[in-house]
Amino acid sequence: MAELNPFKIAQEQLAEAAQALGLDDATHEALRWPMREMTVTLTVRMDDGSVKVFRGYRVQYNDARGPTKGGLRFHPQETLDTVRALAAWMTWKTAVMDLPLGGGKGGVTCNPKEMSPSELERLSRAFIRQVGRIIGPEKDVPAPDVYTTPQIMAWMMDEFSALRGYNAPGVITGKPLPLGGSLGRVDATARGGMYVTREAAKVLGLKTEGATVAIQGFGNAGQFAATLSKELLGMKVVAASDSRGGVYNPKGIDPHALVEHKQRTGSVVDFPGTEPISNEDLLQLKVDLLVPAALENVITDQNADKIQAKIVCELANGPTTPEADKILHDRGVFVLPDFLANAGGVTVSYFEQVQNAYNYYWPLEDVHKRLDQKMTKAFNDVYETHKKHNVHMRLAAYMVAVARVAEAMKLRGWV
Ligand code: GLU
Repeated sequence: MAELNPFKIAQEQLAEAAQALGLDDATHEALRWPMREMTVTLTVRMDDGSVKVFRGYRVQYNDARGPTKGGLRFHPQETLDTVRALAAWMTWKTAVMDLPLGGGKGGVTCNPKEMSPSELERLSRAFIRQVGRIIGPEKDVPAPDVYTTPQIMAWMMDEFSALRGYNAPGVITGKPLPLGGSLGRVDATARGGMYVTREAAKVLGLKTEGATVAIQGFGNAGQFAATLSKELLGMKVVAASDSRGGVYNPKGIDPHALVEHKQRTGSVVDFPGTEPISNEDLLQLKVDLLVPAALENVITDQNADKIQAKIVCELANGPTTPEADKILHDRGVFVLPDFLANAGGVTVSYFEQVQNAYNYYWPLEDVHKRLDQKMTKAFNDVYETHKKHNVHMRLAAYMVAVARVAEAMKLRGWV
């Protein structure tokens, strides 16, 4: 069985890029590990009066290009190695987007689906009481990720502000609008993914109007991918799935009605007018665009030879293993790699930080325009490298990102 530890995979991907770039050994070694990491133990009073103990993490991977930036996950399978991998990918994500930021990530091992809102609030505040000493607008700025929400960001910002004794909205992004959130943050990950899909379709000579889409994972990114693939690109969603199962209709599914059904029932399952489909079968559908939008390691050496999509737009972090990457490349599947495809979220988070620092807020059209410019530029940088060096798109993205981080380290005199 191939390696499925996300951190080992991240190191393997880096090694390939280091070799392709001819990176010196010291820079490569420094980039293989997080600069700093903190593990915390949280005691949280539950609604029934008992106390539960949770483990949490914050990893600051590399800050050569600016303060570390990246989300927080609340997930039962969260491990330090997963957080390290995600923090590494954040470093490459901010670099490929040419944002003046580094990369970080955090999380708490917990099952938020089994917790009440007040338990989640106490957990969120407990987490900030521990990691509050290492985060801040100039140091490290968290954001939402899997199973964390704008409300959780609000509690965390409030706790941090209380600790410091002043209002510090810039400590966290993805906040609700009345607390200094940015317009356009909530759908930014999916929107950015659709902008780069549009650019990919252009270079591949594919028409997006009427093109078919399958979406694996129906959380925030997956839901907005469904509605925006139609709104922005005229595409037709034919399948979608979540952790409970999937739905399929080759004639097309109304994305807004599907989102409404998911929000009402908690799942896409049993959406009227569709037939059931498993997550595994969904991935193998003959569609124009496949959007993995859930967790890591869904396209592996076990199923990569069965993927029939023309374009894979990775809104999830780490959905494809290195072995699968090679298989997809050899078979001519065009992959928009995660830290390019899903960078819309952190890009609008960066816009949110800028607006917080100025205490002056932009209209939605400005956010959309600037996001489009950033995504299009990053796509072109990666695509040029892909063409010039004849390497697959993920390696090309790594080459662009790693070279930028290495240059900043060199200029600082670290290597
Ligand atoms: N969690 C998101 C990601 O993986 C967003 C990070 C952020 O906005 O800082 O890119």
